[in-house]
Parts: sequence; structure tokens; C-alpha cells
Amino acid sequence: MARGAKPDNKTRMLVWGRAAGHCQYPGCSKRLDEDLVAGDLRKNNAYLAHIIASDPSGERGDPTLSHELSNDPTNIMLMCDPHHREIDDPNKKDRYSVSVLRQMKQQHEDRVAHLFSNPLIKPAHVVRVAAFIGENETSIPLSDCIAAMGNEFYLADRRPIDIQMRDIATKDSDPDYYPTVLKLLRSKYDREIRGRFEEGELQHLAIFGFAPMPVLMELGRLLSDLSAVSLYGKHREPKPGWAWPDDQPPLGFSMFKGRTGSKKVALKLSVSAEIVDERVTAAYEDDDVSIWEIRSNRLGTSELRSQNDLSEFRKVVGKTFDAIKDQHGLDVELSVFPAVPTTCAIEFGRTWQPKAHPGFRIFDQVRERGFIERHSIN
Ligand SMILES: [Zn+2]
Ligand SMILES: [Zn+2]
Repeated sequence: MARGAKPDNKTRMLVWGRAAGHCQYPGCSKRLDEDLVAGDLRKNNAYLAHIIASDPSGERGDPTLSHELSNDPTNIMLMCDPHHREIDDPNKKDRYSVSVLRQMKQQHEDRVAHLFSNPLIKPAHVVRVAAFIGENETSIPLSDCIAAMGNEFYLADRRPIDIQMRDIATKDSDPDYYPTVLKLLRSKYDREIRGRFEEGELQHLAIFGFAPMPVLMELGRLLSDLSAVSLYGKHREPKPGWAWPDDQPPLGFSMFKGRTGSKKVALKLSVSAEIVDERVTAAYEDDDVSIWEIRSNRLGTSELRSQNDLSEFRKVVGKTFDAIKDQHGLDVELSVFPAVPTTCAIEFGRTWQPKAHPGFRIFDQVRERGFIERHSIN
């Protein structure tokens, strides 16, 4: 059976234009116009790759569609040489089905449209940090991350940086859990982020964290050297997702100082819920503790709903660290009792400055046991 017609000039222009001159294989995005510009067509590395081959006996060929679609720009992808060969590799038939290739083409063309719809959009690397919280295992779909970054960032790399701590054998009620998880967090951070940031390979990080408070505070401490960081948290309303809803009046935060004269300071972080003093003093053997508090003007698990709220929180945290140091000295025994959304926990760790701020111990709420010391940062 004969081949379908070759793509004509109009079709070629449409394919090139919709692909914005870049290879449409995910994560490749090689520029393909340069050999054309140089005029050396023997070195041309750009291919018009058929999804349904123009030859019925070719890859994904079809007795009728091969002819009908051989000159249809929606059936043709712009590809670099290695990727054209990759998708037509007879050994990889199952991987590159018609629907998979159509989806690749669509995603590439959506991305081009998205880039031009907002000239201010910047690339960001997605970092997903997930650990057990109690019995609940959680995963953060990449599509949620993309939706959350909205018009501010596009994916710098289709493969997110994953710091997953779900494979470890212990649960967060186990005494070995925190040492194991925190060690894993630090080593993965060093390997996946610190070096790549110093090399200039990572420009901006979009952080999606879902883990117990002490882990998130440690993550924040690790991220404190980096300014180009945006934080995202999970929201349940109006529908579950990771985009900042930004649909409420701004949240305000106040610092309440504790009494002077003690070297022991407890700092309550009350945003998601109220923490009564008795729950804090229960963690101490004697009563000689000065209780400080950072408190939001509305309490609840879904009250923090914008990046502005988070930067207000950050300002009050910085002020509070300074005020505690002024009132109690840098050698104060500071302990933190958090009831905050995940993003506040990360931001708290990020705001702390070694040497300038007192070190602190982190207590976390454990059901039926109250606040338990989990980690210390100093
Ligand atoms: Zn082809
Ligand atoms: Zn390619």
C-alpha cells in the first residue's frame, strides 16, 4: 500500500510554529531552528515525526488514517534526531502509543501558549517533601504542583526533586523515627539541592511539604540560605489542592511577651489552634518557665490562605526571636510548641538565623500524650 502525501509547506509551518521551534519530546526542548539559520541543511537535526505513520506499515500506521492524516499538522510532531528515533523504535512500541504521543504534543503546545500568555512567568524547580504523619501516607501529584504555581512559575524540569521519607520502616510514634528521617532529609538536601544551587543549576525552588512539624522546621533551616524559594501548602477548601486560595481578608499576627527573669522560655505558635498554657507547662518539670506566644487574629487549620499572610508571619517570627534574645539572653533555653499550618513551620525554620538567634527545641503534639520533644535546632 502506498504512503500518504508528504507534509506540504503550510503543514510544516504550522508544526514548527506550534512547537515554537523546539523538540516536543518531554524534558528535551532542544532548539531546532539553528541549523536552518546556519543554512547547512545536511546537518539539519529537526524531524517532522508522524504520530500515525504516513506509511500504513510504519510505526502506528493504519490502513485509512495513514492516508487521511499524513498532511495533518495535529498528527505531526517536531522532534530532534534522537527523539524521532526513540519514538519510532520498534522495541518501544508499547511506550509510544498514539495517545501517549498526542498527549506529549498537547502538553508541549500548552506550555508554549502558557509562556506567551504571561511574559513574567519564570522557571522553578518543584521540590516535594513528604513523610508520614501518623498513619497517613500522602503523595503530592505533580499536576497539583503545576496548578499551584499558576501564572507565576512554569516547570524548569519535568522531573521534580523528591525528598520522600515514606519508605522508612518506623512510624512517627517510634523513638527512632525522627533521628532517621532528619538524617535522611539532610543528606537528600545536600545531594539534590545544595550543590545544584551553588552550581547555578537551580534558580528558584517551589517547595511542597507535607510532613510532621519538626521535619518541616528542619527543612526551613536548610532552606534559610536560599532566597529564591516559594512555599506551598495543602488546602482543603474551596476544593482540595496546593494553590494559595487568596480569598480572605489578610491574617494578622501578634507577639505576646512572657514574664522576665527566667532562662526557660516556651514559645507557643497559635495559628491552627489554641494551645492552653497547661499543655506547655506539662512538658516541664518545674513551673519556672516564661511563656511567649505568636498568635493569629483568626485561629483555624484553614485560615492562612495567601503568601502575604505567610510573609506577615515571617516578620513577627523574626521580631519575636530578637525580643526573646533581648529579654532572656542568647543562652536562653528556648522551646517551641507549634500549632501551625505546614508552610508556617517551614517559614519558622527559614527565619531562624544561627548565631543571631537562640537555638530551640521543637515539641510536637502527639495524640493522648501531649507535647513531646522531637528535635532541636542550634
Ligand atoms: Zn515519521
Ligand atoms: Zn529531543
